[in-house]
Formats: sequence, structure tokens, C-alpha cells
Amino acid sequence: ILYPASQSELPQELAENVILSSVSDLYDWARLSSLWPLLYGTACCFIEVAAMIGSRFDFDRFGLVPRSSPRQADLLITAGTVTMKMAPALVRLYEQMPEPKYVIAMGACTITGGMFSTDSYSAVRGVDKLIPVDVYLPGCPPRPEAVMDAIVKLRKKISNEDIRERGQIAQKHRYYSTAHQ
Ligand code: SF4
Repeated sequence: ILYPASQSELPQELAENVILSSVSDLYDWARLSSLWPLLYGTACCFIEVAAMIGSRFDFDRFGLVPRSSPRQADLLITAGTVTMKMAPALVRLYEQMPEPKYVIAMGACTITGGMFSTDSYSAVRGVDKLIPVDVYLPGCPPRPEAVMDAIVKLRKKISNEDIRERGQIAQKHRYYSTAHQ
């Protein structure tokens, strides 16, 4: 059987009753509708994430279900300062998450080191030196609405990406991982 490549190529009588999609599109839709974030907070930014989890902001409506285990999570929101001492633990948590997985870098501290970027011996100057970041969310701290906006941006990114690209990002991350051992 030869299948048409798009809905518009279907005969009229079929087009009104059949929906065509690709496996990749269905897969993307399922992933963006069920992102499960790891509960990871190291400083004040996490207070805003905690507020977002509450009923006022109701982020469950996006299919987000917070998880305590990295094995069950596919979204990491780095909420708070990342210290040099915490860096190996963060990389290990990321590596324990199954592919495909995503990272939102939340707040000035995780993006650049924030107020610790000039005069601190202990803060990591940018979490993207450790793990690949999908969405940068600036602020000190970003409000829950801004976190929601970052999640919407991530969902758009997932809906536009080819799942095979995630494999290339995983390859790149192996370099980060090895470089920091
Ligand atoms: Fe705290 Fe601001 Fe740093 Fe967030 S960006 S962890 S609110 S100091």
C-alpha cells in the first residue's frame, strides 16, 4: 500500500475522516505533554519553583509531575546557586535521568554565577559548563510566571525538534562529563 505524504494528498472522502501524522510528531507531542521535573533546588530560586507547584499556578495542567528520583524525571530545572562542591552531584543526577531529557537554567546564579560571579571561590560560573542547557531563564529570582514561560518555550522547542537531534546532544554531553572527571 502506498500512503500519501500529507493530509492534502488524501482523496476528499478520506481527508474528512482520517488524520495523518508522523511517529516523530506523535512522540514529540507525548514528550512535551508529560515533562516530569526533578525536584532540584540549591538556593532561593527554588522558592519560586515551590510556589509554582502549588495550586495558585497549577503547573500540573501542562502534564508536569514533580519527581524525587532522577530515574523518573526528564526535566531538570537548576534552581539556585551551583557550587563547585555540588557540581559532581549535579552532573551525576543529570546522567541518571533517562534520554530524552531537558534542562532549564533558572536564575542569574546558575546562568553566570550571579552575585557570586566575581568574588567567590566556590560558585560555578554557568551551569552550561557542566550540562547542556535548553532554556535560559534570567532573573533573581524569576517569578513563577517566568518559569511557566520557560516551560512553554521548552514545549515549543520539543514540538519543533527532531528526536534524532537529542542523540547528538547526548554525545556532546559525554564530552562535558569526561572533561569534568
Ligand atoms: Fe537566589 Fe537570586 Fe541566585 Fe536565584 S538568582 S539563587 S534568587 S541569589
